[in-house]
Amino acid sequence: MSYSVSLPLDGGFLRRECPHCERQFKWHHGPTESRPDGEIDPPVYCCPYCGKTAPADEWWTVAQLEYMRDVSMPGIMRDLTDEFNKGQRRNRKSMISTSMSHDEPLPPDSLHEPSDMVVTEPPCHPWEPIKVDEAWTDPVHCLFCGERFGLG
Ligand SMILES: [Zn+2]
Ligand SMILES: [Zn+2]
Repeated sequence: MSYSVSLPLDGGFLRRECPHCERQFKWHHGPTESRPDGEIDPPVYCCPYCGKTAPADEWWTVAQLEYMRDVSMPGIMRDLTDEFNKGQRRNRKSMISTSMSHDEPLPPDSLHEPSDMVVTEPPCHPWEPIKVDEAWTDPVHCLFCGERFGLG
């Protein structure tokens, strides 16, 4: 079972949250047009703020996780209920006569992705732009290689 959920983007940027320092930034969703041929995604990404690394699937924001859970829940519940009812029919003679029902929750509101934060291009990897908090003035780390650079 897999459910695909589409998340809103801000001009191609996807909001991310560092699993270490819990600060938020945005990275470009998918390769940009200026990415050279042969450049592949790194095994881990580097937080622009604290410089720590984590694999690509560990950067969900709390809102994104809740949204994905809400979006996928009706489908999962439906499958579970079907399976359960099938099992019940096979065991008709058993003394257990429970049945499972559920109220299907309404589809959740779409996530809103505001156009905030400031775009910056790391000098070492200019084809991998990141958006960082407007209030952040310290040097940031390149998402790809962790190199520190000033925001100018
Ligand atoms: Zn961090
Ligand atoms: Zn770099």
